[in-house]
Amino acid sequence: MTALVLRGGEVFDPETGQFAVRDVRIADGVFAGPAVDGDELVDVTGMVVCPGLVDLHTHVFTGQDLGVDPDDFAPPAGTTTLIDTGSAGGHLFGAFRRSAVERSATRIRAFLNISSVGTTSIMLGGELKAPHYANEDVAVECIEANRDLLIGVKVRASADVGGEHATEALRRARRVADRVALPLMVHLGPRPAAIDEIASLLGKGDILTHAFSGWEGNRVILDGRLRDSVRAARDRGALLDIGHGMSGFDPGTARAMLELGELPDTISTDLHTYSRHLVVDFPTVLSKFLALGMSLPQVLARATLAPARAASLADSGVGTLRVGAPADVAVLRRVAGDFDLGGIPATERLECVVTLAAGRTVYDGRAAA
Ligand SMILES: [Zn+2]
Repeated sequence: MTALVLRGGEVFDPETGQFAVRDVRIADGVFAGPAVDGDELVDVTGMVVCPGLVDLHTHVFTGQDLGVDPDDFAPPAGTTTLIDTGSAGGHLFGAFRRSAVERSATRIRAFLNISSVGTTSIMLGGELKAPHYANEDVAVECIEANRDLLIGVKVRASADVGGEHATEALRRARRVADRVALPLMVHLGPRPAAIDEIASLLGKGDILTHAFSGWEGNRVILDGRLRDSVRAARDRGALLDIGHGMSGFDPGTARAMLELGELPDTISTDLHTYSRHLVVDFPTVLSKFLALGMSLPQVLARATLAPARAASLADSGVGTLRVGAPADVAVLRRVAGDFDLGGIPATERLECVVTLAAGRTVYDGRAAA
């Protein structure tokens, strides 16, 4: 099989945080050593080359109300790994496996919803309003049977999803995560649950998503500084994830956090049926953080290696350019101009040009460029 060499690109290695103009060679679906005669050359001069993007918060339960088709939106965005965050609970995980994972060419892992019905629809109230669906034994049994795909437990612990039951569901999700020794992802929404209680339950590897949202009385910032409870959770190793979505991202909170030097640990889209028009795509979400003052290395690291680590995939090479790792690649272009990115003025935006998944071209937008 002919090896492929991407030549001339500005290659970003998230393991060093450095850019360098160098070849990226791919053979037999993995990253390989230096180019040799006979390799197929692809000129990517002037473009950014990085590991395929890893989106830590998405909804890809295809055929379910919220779910979008992963092969529809991931390849054109440079995304090669998707984490579904709680679309399915224990009683629907078999359907999720069949409709999303087995039918998709994109790598998919998932957090299991503590509610056995999962996030069935965000239009009809929440999956936690009937508390008996938040069944700990059902969740544990499902995770033990599906450890090839499940990487953690998700709970949307907020008033809109669980009413007065939200805080109890949070505690149940914490117990399940402890029983199976996997991370807990909690979404931040309107009280209850209160952010201080959520943060108090988060430890190393756990994730607060929608962390830069702007819910009154439930923001990560209090009186102009990072809340003590969130500071303590970060110090214990808990991660702050973006989860842009419909109402999961507030530019004002983001500006304030970045001014405090409190960068997110991971950047993700929360792309689903009802957020798609706001999210647009992963490069657009990343461009917002460039416009807000983060550097390109800071942004790309939080969309590749950092989420791969959070999803326990980095040891297998996902999110890296290591020789021998799956050759997942995003080739991006920096487009200059005057843009309005959802109310954030920007002078450049990232666009995906080419996407490779395990060495195979799954998107090629060069002709459209
Ligand atoms: Zn979500």
